[in-house]
Amino acid sequence: MRIRTFLSLGLVVCLIAVIITCATTGPGGEKDLILISTAQEKQLGTEFDKQVRAQSEIYDNESWNDYFNEIGQGIVAVSDRKDLDYKFTVIKSNDVNAFAVPGGYIYIYTGLLDIIENEAQLAAVTSHEISHVVARHSIKRIQQVMGIQILYQIVVGEASSEALDAVIGLGLNVALSGYSREYEREADQYGVFYMEKAGYNPEGAIGLFNQLREAHGGTSEDRSFFENLFASHPETQERINNVEEQLGQYSQEVLNRDKNQNKYQQMKSLLP
Ligand SMILES: [Zn+2]
Repeated sequence: MRIRTFLSLGLVVCLIAVIITCATTGPGGEKDLILISTAQEKQLGTEFDKQVRAQSEIYDNESWNDYFNEIGQGIVAVSDRKDLDYKFTVIKSNDVNAFAVPGGYIYIYTGLLDIIENEAQLAAVTSHEISHVVARHSIKRIQQVMGIQILYQIVVGEASSEALDAVIGLGLNVALSGYSREYEREADQYGVFYMEKAGYNPEGAIGLFNQLREAHGGTSEDRSFFENLFASHPETQERINNVEEQLGQYSQEVLNRDKNQNKYQQMKSLLP
């Protein structure tokens, strides 16, 4: 009885010790209660990445790897989260999508690269995905859904392989099928903020939405687009309206920045 009390007290103390660490999860010093540390997130990240690589065909083209990485790292450099080694990977697939998993792994499908028109639009998707990582959306979702026992195992670094599998499965599902409306709004907003800070024309975000709509007639039933972007039409319109409102705060000079169409079209011609 005594030992049990002692143990559960120990567990509570441990949990409190990790709970105290609030992490920055967005621009302007936005903070959140994050139980899973960056070190643990990195460990989870390598597991996620293994899983993604086992399930997908990686498009391994040096020019594209460099190009995508350069855009990604430029945005990371002005973001609120630089404690991860971000990795940017192109996946060969006709799916029109992009996603991020914990640990800073960002993936984009050639199907989406095909319908994008310029670098500003690519920067917009990349910045949106980086923002999901900065805001720790997957991590927060894992914290919400996983039972306290599994979470505790992960937090203290003693997760069984079953527990780890459950977390990886959940995380991938969240990344691929989309987040809540609130999280998407956040990623859109931070995404525009960071891409502009990195020197891109933030109008690329609207261009991207329009390209997606045009490519699919605006009535797509496919639920996998850009993490469910076009799953429900009114919701998409609301997102476009929010981004347009945000663009209103930028000067004409910013909105006139070159969208690097030529460079992008050159890169596009290399795609399989
Ligand atoms: Zn998203």
